[in-house]
Amino acid sequence: MYKIAVLPGDGIGAEIVPEAIKALNAIAERFGHEFVFNEALIGGAAYDVEGTPLPPATLELCRQSDAVLLGAIGGPKWDNLPAKLRPEVGALLPLRKELELYANLRPSVLFPGLLQASTLKEEVIEGVDILVIRELTGGLYFGEKSREKTADGGQKATDILSYSTYEIERIVRFAYEAARQRRKILCSVDKANVLESSRLWRETVSDLAKEYPDVETTHMYVDNCSMQLIRNPRQFDVIVTENMFGDILTDEASMLTGSIGMLPSASIGGQVGLYEPSHGSAPDIAGQQKANPLATILSAAMMLRYSFQLEAEARLIEKAVKDVLAEGYRTPDLMEAGKKLLNTIEMGDMVAEHISKGE
Ligand code: NAD
Repeated sequence: MYKIAVLPGDGIGAEIVPEAIKALNAIAERFGHEFVFNEALIGGAAYDVEGTPLPPATLELCRQSDAVLLGAIGGPKWDNLPAKLRPEVGALLPLRKELELYANLRPSVLFPGLLQASTLKEEVIEGVDILVIRELTGGLYFGEKSREKTADGGQKATDILSYSTYEIERIVRFAYEAARQRRKILCSVDKANVLESSRLWRETVSDLAKEYPDVETTHMYVDNCSMQLIRNPRQFDVIVTENMFGDILTDEASMLTGSIGMLPSASIGGQVGLYEPSHGSAPDIAGQQKANPLATILSAAMMLRYSFQLEAEARLIEKAVKDVLAEGYRTPDLMEAGKKLLNTIEMGDMVAEHISKGE
């Protein structure tokens, strides 16, 4: 029996999470597993009811579970609250910190059926398979923040960016181990020409590289990386980088896969893993059943792989997604001429059906 905390959150979160649960239920039925789902509030939805975006009961439920499935949080309704009460700063960041989720894995894989869905040329993206490993509990997002008044009547805002050797080593080791399971090429991304924290990052990676002679190590500045991802994405196997650079580069990398609605993520490192799509709550399409649930469904597959060590089951979900796309089914974000349009629920049903009957 596996206990899963379910946190739909805000916006499209409430539409995409049930579709991932359908996929997990189809897996449970085929393989004789028992998944127990316990739902709790998070983000703006929690603030509206409890006055806080991360109620203690939600955190406790996560701690008591074997894994967490999250939709997305945030939206314009809560944008002007004080930082601590805003969904992202008040819920997502402390949840990551409390669960010690220092490693965020975001695979950017182009499914063959989506070759034409990307805005990039087919010959550039064909065969793209990149794993971005983002440090998730340090750096600028967790550094001290402050505001002060200036003499000219304006204000000065400060965010501190710091990394320790320990924090860098633990994520980089993780990335080396992941690279060893793949094509054995690790690109460490930093801004060592300008930032002191990046200089320490680069030195630490260079030291660790000696322990992994079987893995090819390269260093790249983040500005160059953002360009190389579009110019020649196939050069990358595993990318390891700090929190903010990873946040930005993975949104860019999502376009290699056709849509941000295709990009899953796993946040691991502590006792309980957190699985969520890489995108946000998409307020512009919320409540319309237009959202692509595949990133969330693929995040559920990552949960099976990384938290429950159910590799065959994870692969079956990924194969179902691949087959559904190969058969021409699309949500609006991926739609092109000649394909078959499905809404969120229909896409979830289609994947679950493929899981139930797939080999
Ligand atoms: P977003 O990812 O929510 O949306 C960006 C664009 O991508 C929008 O046009 C949206 O419609 C589209 N999109 C996103 N997911 C999609 C899906 N599954 N299917 C189809 N289209 C999809 O980013 P944003 O607009 O910058 O942020 C909206 C809110 O989400 C903000 O409050 C932001 O802070 C929050 N956010 C939350 C998370 C999270 O919960 N982990 C991550 C990023 C942003």
